[in-house]
Amino acid sequence: MPEETISIPKFEFNKYFVHRLNNEQVLLITSFGRIACLDKNEFADFKKQKIGKVLFKKLEKAHIIITKQNRSLEINDYRVRYGHVCEGVSLHIVNPTMRCNQSCLYCYANSSNMNAKGLDLDEKTGKKIVAFAWQSTRKEITREVQGGEPLANFPAIESIVNYAKTKKGKKIHWRIVTNLTLMDETIASFLQKNKIFDVCTSLDGPKKVHDKNRPWSNGSSFDKVVQWINCLKQDFGFKNLGALCTVTKNSLPFAKEIVDTYLELGFQDITPVPLRKIGLAGKNWEKIGYLGSDYFDFWKKTLDYCIKMTRDGKPISEQLSVLTLGKMNKVEPNYHTCFSKPCGAALMQCSYQPNGDIFTCDEAKAEPLFKIGNVEQSYKSVFTSPEALNMVSISSSLGFACNECKFTGFCRFCPVLTYCTQGSLVPMLALDEDCKLKKAQFSLLLEKIFGKDNRILLKWLDENT
Ligand code: SF4
Ligand code: SF4
Repeated sequence: MPEETISIPKFEFNKYFVHRLNNEQVLLITSFGRIACLDKNEFADFKKQKIGKVLFKKLEKAHIIITKQNRSLEINDYRVRYGHVCEGVSLHIVNPTMRCNQSCLYCYANSSNMNAKGLDLDEKTGKKIVAFAWQSTRKEITREVQGGEPLANFPAIESIVNYAKTKKGKKIHWRIVTNLTLMDETIASFLQKNKIFDVCTSLDGPKKVHDKNRPWSNGSSFDKVVQWINCLKQDFGFKNLGALCTVTKNSLPFAKEIVDTYLELGFQDITPVPLRKIGLAGKNWEKIGYLGSDYFDFWKKTLDYCIKMTRDGKPISEQLSVLTLGKMNKVEPNYHTCFSKPCGAALMQCSYQPNGDIFTCDEAKAEPLFKIGNVEQSYKSVFTSPEALNMVSISSSLGFACNECKFTGFCRFCPVLTYCTQGSLVPMLALDEDCKLKKAQFSLLLEKIFGKDNRILLKWLDENT
């Protein structure tokens, strides 16, 4: 018997996209990434607009149709997803030096060697950077310390941390991103004393991969980073120390070994970051670069192995999946600056060079095009400059084909990557390896979240959000 189609409340269709999952299931997806999963019979009815009560409820819940019941929720989705446009810059990244003691093949910052001159932050500019960030409308800000290798100018870190302590009216969260090879007990004690426990390092996998990607003239950078990961966790209480894994051509055959290295060091998550043609990575592309499809194969193996290990009682989540699943599963504020639209560049984050120049975001700091001002200017003039506003407008991707893509609710668009790979801020999507890769990743994640791995993925999501 066909389902009763009368006495259905009034409704109108929202904008939606169709994604065929397999021969049995079809997904309807809204621009905010809400999803209704229909079986083939329901989809046939839907196409004929034969909407019975069960189908009606399914469509209403996913906002595929807008009714009296869900109208205010849909309006709230807009408020939540675009709230970051009005909230001010929360992530202020300071680079105490643009020198570095390693020679990583993919350095997006284009760091110079340790003997280079004029690349260190001085005390006066450091104070100006702190005072500049203090004008953010946010009550809480994150001050991330990057580089170069930031510990190569540790006195500048001490100086800005101590100066920030004299200022009132904001809560400040400190994060340090370091290769750990210059870490020592004095620095570790300073971080501990100032409750700076949010430390993130680079760990590209086992020694044979890490040392090839991240050469260090003093020996094995892998041995040093492992020594300090263990020491900071065990002796200094840095329980949540984080690590990022950059994936180069050297990494591609070692998906399993890379995950095993993370597990051996006690990590419960891994973020395998695809190589981006920015800075030195662009110059070394022939040597370390690959196609999006190569990364996809690697990432799929990593994801499957993380799922297997989690199922076998050694939990480890793959973080790019977790971030995307977060977008698929619920509409919530954009906390991650690169996973929002518009993205966080010049809106949620900015990056300060040692000379006080301000860039839209950290990945942009090697490209003069993305400079939006200097700490000598007023806060307002920097963040309302044409350069800053253009970045916000472009990264919203509202004018592009992205807006008509079925994955628009989960996807993000990076103007810096587009500029560095295509020489233009407006992407040529048909030629865009990153777009091809994301489409393949979203399709696989949708398969998994509506398939047998659903429980593990939802568990990761629960534990990581
Ligand atoms: S970048 Fe590609 S996958 Fe992402 S929304 Fe645009 S067209 Fe879709
Ligand atoms: S421009 Fe790219 S790297 Fe910078 S915040 Fe946006 S998405 Fe992230």
